[in-house]
Order: sequence, then structure tokens, then C-alpha cells
Amino acid sequence: MPHSIEDVPRSSPVVTHLGPADAELDEPVLGRIAGLLHPYRSKLVLVAVAVVSAAILNSLAPFLTKAVFDDALFPKSGDPRMDLLAWLVVGLCVIPIVAALIGIAQNWLTSTVGNSAMADLRGDLFAHLQTMELAFFTATKTGNIQSRLANDVAGVRTVLTDTATSILQNTVTVTAAFIAMVVLSWQLTILTLILMPVFIAIQLRVGRRRQRLARKTQESLSEMTAITEEALSVSGILLSKVFNRADAEVERYREANRQQTRLQVEQAMTGRAFFATVQAFFAITPAVLYLAAGLMITGGSATLTAGTLVAFTTLQARLQMPLLQLMRVSLDVQTSLALFRRIFEYLDLEPAITEKPGAVRIDDADLHGAIEFRDVWFQYPEPRALSGTVNRDRFGDSGVRIERDEDAAPSEGWALRGVSLRVEPGQLAAIVGPSGAGKTTMTYLVPRFYDVTEGAVLIDGHDVRDLTLGSVAEAVGMVTQEPYLFHGTIRDNIAYAKPDATAAEIEQAARDANIHDRILGFADGYETITGERGYRLSGGEKQRLAIARVLLMDPRILILDEATSALDTETERLVQEALERATRDRTTIAIAHRLSTIRSADVIFGIDDGMVVESGSHDELLEAGGLYARLYVEQFGSGQIEARFTDGVRYSDGSLVCDRRHDDRRADVSF
Ligand code: ATP
Repeated sequence: MPHSIEDVPRSSPVVTHLGPADAELDEPVLGRIAGLLHPYRSKLVLVAVAVVSAAILNSLAPFLTKAVFDDALFPKSGDPRMDLLAWLVVGLCVIPIVAALIGIAQNWLTSTVGNSAMADLRGDLFAHLQTMELAFFTATKTGNIQSRLANDVAGVRTVLTDTATSILQNTVTVTAAFIAMVVLSWQLTILTLILMPVFIAIQLRVGRRRQRLARKTQESLSEMTAITEEALSVSGILLSKVFNRADAEVERYREANRQQTRLQVEQAMTGRAFFATVQAFFAITPAVLYLAAGLMITGGSATLTAGTLVAFTTLQARLQMPLLQLMRVSLDVQTSLALFRRIFEYLDLEPAITEKPGAVRIDDADLHGAIEFRDVWFQYPEPRALSGTVNRDRFGDSGVRIERDEDAAPSEGWALRGVSLRVEPGQLAAIVGPSGAGKTTMTYLVPRFYDVTEGAVLIDGHDVRDLTLGSVAEAVGMVTQEPYLFHGTIRDNIAYAKPDATAAEIEQAARDANIHDRILGFADGYETITGERGYRLSGGEKQRLAIARVLLMDPRILILDEATSALDTETERLVQEALERATRDRTTIAIAHRLSTIRSADVIFGIDDGMVVESGSHDELLEAGGLYARLYVEQFGSGQIEARFTDGVRYSDGSLVCDRRHDDRRADVSF
């Protein structure tokens, strides 16, 4: 165990670095995409059958055309053969109709497979993100995460729905047409294909460029989503209104918007010239073919009939679309591969907080709730470097800065330095200390929002890292300073802690949290919509809802981060009563700001600069005249304080004196 700061390794063990965003990932991305499609393989077999049959049917048509010319209209024997012509015309009508019907069925199949596979991918990504530790979210912009879930996954949909079938369909069509062309005239086929290598070389170049642009476009889109999320959320709007930064926000968005437009135009234009060349080639080749045919006939080629030439040019024209599509598709594939890489980059992030194999599960019945910090050292992990997603200061110097991960500053120093303490089952422990001392950090280590860097946090003698994540989550409840309420009804917000709670249980929790009557006062009662983050409720109401939620959860251990904002006397009393009920019969660690909480604590820990500098009861610590006494004077030393059992405390001859005056009302305390 480290005994001084220097003894402890400086690097954090939970940091994971990814390679640069643009680096080619060497794992077989295509293999992983195939893995996504694996559950739908039977449907895919049907798609393949449909594609091949349609392509073969379509390639048969030119042979019928050849027969129309050579055998029915202009047979060598002389007169046209109308009976044969009728059958051939029927064939030429039926083939496209059957091929179209097969096409519809195939579309349904590919659309189902593609969208289902995309839904799976989105679901997997969401589920994976749920397993990520808190540190990941503090270091990543919400908008970037949303963008990967929405824009990137939507971007790969075309691959899963259209591209795969397009490749198969067009390859089969091209192959079938190619074979048919060779059968008709190998000389003309060679002439047609002479320019192919040139196209392939250009296409590879264009493809790489499009891939690079696709990644940039997606990053820029992600940036725009992040700006929207930040600026147009309730807190973002509040911030920009309060600091009159609306213009800066608009400019920030406009700049990202301009960047996006530039990239989109560049992407659209890349390859245009290439496609134009291919199109011109296909437009010109029939004329060249006629010339070549003329030369072949005058040279004495017996096999080249008018029907062969018509069939050949029909096939050649038919080759144009599939070939163009194949080239376009290969560009799309490269674009989509770039998006897949972005998605896989997230899926490959290893959660830093994981469950050990063979982790112990402690059931509620066996849980006593003793908490121990054993020589705990903690350093916040450095943000993981992911492409353009690190959460940095919003405005920067210009107000329009686009964040870059290479700017990410490593977090330095220790947030906790050798913290050792013990809270017995059922005790209320108050943590006090100046801002930035490490109080919140300490509480984060109990439910494993972060893991200790050195030392251990124990519940009932078990290192929390040896327990199952589920049992830790069930054991530890939390009431945070800023209670998080989602956009939904009050009932749903309370029931989040216990989804199967009955209406009676929810109401009982609300009663115990002193919020039931207030809820009934709303026009819609428990069905009242709280608004995003509970903006429609007052601070005191939100606090009591958060307490109701934790009462419903009924955890053995409660972490309480008391709100610092002052409430009016009546609301303060209601919150206070609710808190007393919440802390009863369970172990509580409270980051205490209320004097009443501190006074009723079984033990108070004074934290300074990441260390426990003193511990004891209120009176002991006041008499000791250390950190707690100083904070007590600073925080409660002047003006009105909330004090249900307030001793009169005053300075006399430079030291604190407690007058031991019990007063059940708010009291003026002066020093
Ligand atoms: P306050 O009373 O102001 O909330 P606190 O005592 O709860 O303060 P902590 O929030 O635990 O203090 O912070 C302790 C130290 O850790 C501070 O120096 C803070 O800057 C740093 N810190 C907090 N959160 C992070 C984080 N996510 N990444 C890096 N450093 C952090």
C-alpha cells in the first residue's frame, strides 16, 4: 500500500486508448457485417434465389430478340413465321412481368432484413453504451453519442438493405450478360470490355477519396448534433440566455453547417466525372460496334447476323446500368465501411467497470450495510480518445471552436489520497469539507461509478469489485444534489426505482417523502408531466420526488448529496422530515450541507484535499477547533441558519464556544 503520494503509480489503470480515428482497422469489418446478417440467413438465401432468377430471366430476353429477327421476321428460309413470332412476343412480355414480381418480393425481403439488422445494431450499441462507466459519459459529448446511434447507424442502412442485394443482382446480371455476349460474339465482347481496367483504376481512387469524405461528413454531422443537443436543451438555452450568447451559439452552428455543406457538395461531386465518362463510353460503343460488325462482315464472318448484332447491342446497353450501379455501389460500400468503423469503434470500447468472473451476490436479506474505505487512492481516469468526441469547454476563445480529442488534457493529481474510514450498519455519516475536497468523489466509489486506483471500498467486508454489479446497484441508493427527472409523469419518475411497484407503494413513498399532498394539488395528480429534467417542478418538489424514488427502492445503503440551495422554511421542514425518514434504518453517507443532517449524524468526517483530516461528533469536532469548526463558522456563522437543535455557538477569545442552547425554531446565531 502506498504511504506517500510519491509511492503511488501516477498512471490510471482504467485508461484505454484507441488508435487514431482515421487508421484502418485491421479486423475484418466485412466479417462483422456478415455476423450482423447471420440471424437472417434463410431470408438472404431467398433473396439470392430471387436475384439470380431475375437476372437469368432478363439475360434470356436478348436471345428471344435474336430469334425474333433471325428466325421469325427474317428467316433464312424466306417468309416470316408468325406462329413463332407470337410465341416469342409472349415470351418477351412474360419475362419482364415475372422479373418485376420477383423484384417486388426481393425488395420486401431485403428491406426486412436490412432494417432488422440495423435495429439489432442500434440495440446492441445502446445496450453497450449502458454498460460504459460514468467517466466515459463525462468525457463524451451527449450529441456525439446520439449521432452515432442515429446518423451513423442510419448511414449504414443502405448497405444492409440495398447495397448487398445490388451487388449480388448486378454481378449476376453482368456475368449472365457477359456470358451471353461471349456466346453471341467473342470478338465484339473483347471490343466492349477493352476499357474496363481503366475504369477500375479510376474507381479505386475515387472510392478512397469518398471514404475519407464520408468519415469527415459524419464527424461534422455528429458535431452538429452535439451543438444542437447542447444549445437547444433546456439547460443550454438557459445558459445562452443568461450569458447573452445566442449570437455565438448561432454562429457556432452556422460554421458547423457551412462545413457540412462543403463536405456534402465535395462528396456529391467526387466521382461525377468518372460516371460521366462511363456514360459517354456506353453511348458511343454501339456506333463503334456497328463499324466493327461492318468490318467483320466484309471480312467474311459467317456467324454475325443482323439478329446477333441487335441482341448484342441490347445486351451491351443492358450492361450499362448494372455496371454503373456496381461501380457506384462499391463507392457506397467504402463510404459505409467508414461508418461501420465508427460504430464498431464504440462497440469495441471495453467498459472500465466490469463484473469479475465468480463475483459474489449478496442478497438484501444478508446485507447489513457496513461501509469501509481502506487506504483509498483515487485519480480520475483520462478521457478516452475517440474521434472528435471529447467533452471540452463549450465556447473556447472564438465561441465557434470545434473540439478535437488531441487537445484533451490529462487529469492530473489525486482526488483522494489514502482515505480510510468506516461507517457501521445503520449509521448516518456526514462528510464535510471545502469545495473540491473530494466528497462527491468518495461517494462515487461506493456504487462503483468509478473504481479505486489503489486501496479498496468494502461493503460488509466485501470489496465492491468482488460483488456482482447487480447486488451493488441494489444495495446502494442515491439522492443527488440535482435530482434527475426524465420527461414523463410523476408516477413514472417515482416508479423508475421499482418498475413493478403498485400504485399504493408509489403513493406511500410519496407520502413518506412529504410530496403526496403536493402531487394531488397538481391538476393531473400523479399523471402530471414533469417536463425535461423536471423543469416544471420547483427545487423542493424535485428533491422530495427524488427522496420518494429512493424510499420506493428501499436500499440498504443511501448516498445523499444534499442540495446547497436554500429553501423556504416550510419546504425545508418538509424536505428535512422526508430525509429523516429516508435515512432511518439504513446506512447513510451524506455530503451534508444542512446543519440538521450534520447534527444528527453519528459520525462526521472532515475531508480536505482528498484526505480525511478529522472525524467525530459535532461537539467533538467543534471543540477540536479544526477544519469542521472553521467550516461551521464560515457556513453557519452569520445570518439566519436552519437549526432544529441548534446550539448557540460563538467566538470568545479567539475560540469557539458552544452554549448548549436547544431551540426548536430557526435561530439567529452570531459569532
Ligand atoms: P463540491 O463540494 O464543490 O462538490 P467535492 O468535495 O465534492 O466538491 P469532488 O467533486 O469530489 O469535490 O472533486 C474532487 C476533485 O476531483 C476536484 O479537484 C475536481 O476538480 C476533480 N474532479 C471531479 N470530477 C472529475 C472528473 N470527472 N474528472 C477529473 N477530475 C474530476
